[in-house]
Amino acid sequence: MSEMWGDAVDASTIGSGGTAEAAPIPAQATAESRGPNTITRTERIRAVDSSGDAPYLEVTNLTVAFPTADGVVRAVQDLTYTLKLGQTLAVVGESGSGKSVSSMAVMGLHDPKSTRMRGSIRLGGREIVGMPQEELRHQRGRAAAMIFQDPQSSLHPFFTIVKQITEAYVTHNNVSTRAARKRAVDMLGLVGIPNAVRRLDDFPHQFSGGMRQRVMIAMALVNDPKLLIADEPTTALDVTVQAQILDLIMDLQRDFGSAVLFITHDLGVVAEIADDVLVMYGGRAVEHGTVKDILASPHHPYTWGLLESIPAVSGEPTRLHPIPGTPPSLLKLPSGCSFHPRCEFRQRVPGDLCRTELPDLVPRTADPGRTSRCHLAHPDEIFATDILPRLP
Ligand code: SF4
Repeated sequence: MSEMWGDAVDASTIGSGGTAEAAPIPAQATAESRGPNTITRTERIRAVDSSGDAPYLEVTNLTVAFPTADGVVRAVQDLTYTLKLGQTLAVVGESGSGKSVSSMAVMGLHDPKSTRMRGSIRLGGREIVGMPQEELRHQRGRAAAMIFQDPQSSLHPFFTIVKQITEAYVTHNNVSTRAARKRAVDMLGLVGIPNAVRRLDDFPHQFSGGMRQRVMIAMALVNDPKLLIADEPTTALDVTVQAQILDLIMDLQRDFGSAVLFITHDLGVVAEIADDVLVMYGGRAVEHGTVKDILASPHHPYTWGLLESIPAVSGEPTRLHPIPGTPPSLLKLPSGCSFHPRCEFRQRVPGDLCRTELPDLVPRTADPGRTSRCHLAHPDEIFATDILPRLP
């Protein structure tokens, strides 16, 4: 356990709401307090690829399955995408769509004894699938780090936050306790925790939900990771703190030049933070494109359903159109297009194609990066005539 360093707890920063206590990110702190091992956004992008164009993360035909007593859970099937440094990709879908499982695969967090994994995940040019656990441990923290959904259960209640923030830093850098604590103070200042020196030896329960999430972000960033995976990091927070955390992640992403993989079911959040969007359903990608494409003229009926489920914040109250039914069991996915039992547009596809044949994920426009997985012939026309008029 770390030595005692700070003073008494600052009572003004302990609470449950979290809005009044959050300090703005000090502008100069982002540049001055990173410590000796950090690099600038430009340096980072140049170090990986001189043109800045090569993807940092390349996922190709990834399949993740879990054999169970009831059968094989096919959590992710044939998933392909890329992500460059400095870019944010939002992965969107309901629970059970495969977004968290695929992201944990990128971190190498699945137990190889209970997981069947095929395909390729290249992180900074290194293959993750099949990498020995010891090497994976070395990769984590620097190459990629993850902010989990629930800081309450992700932070260890028995250890001070300085212990938890510096553990990975000490592992990756041969530094003294004093240097590690200095780094922790810098990181806490960076994520907007006031009186950072005095908070070092506090325990997680002495922080509010929003402040715990900031501590989680400080932990994730302490080794200056090139890829930051944020798994629904604002789900457990109230709306005001949610907005602060999103701003914080965007500011840090801009400042550090990291690639960000942002997992969410909330298209409102996507509109604020993403460059590109990947929509997943039943373990498969069903639509992929820029945030403008996906939000302004989506092609897939599932994406239409997600858009129709967002309540309007102004204007006349309108009726929401929730997606009927429930997400499919990954133990026994529906035949053909796995969305067909819930899709109100399947009648517009000739024959029984939706039930019998899985559509390919293919480009539907001149842009090869804009893809969708649906048998409908003219989805853009249907979106304009049927969906747009009833959007909130
Ligand atoms: Fe709906 Fe058929 Fe398209 Fe699937 S393939 S989303 S069932 S129209």
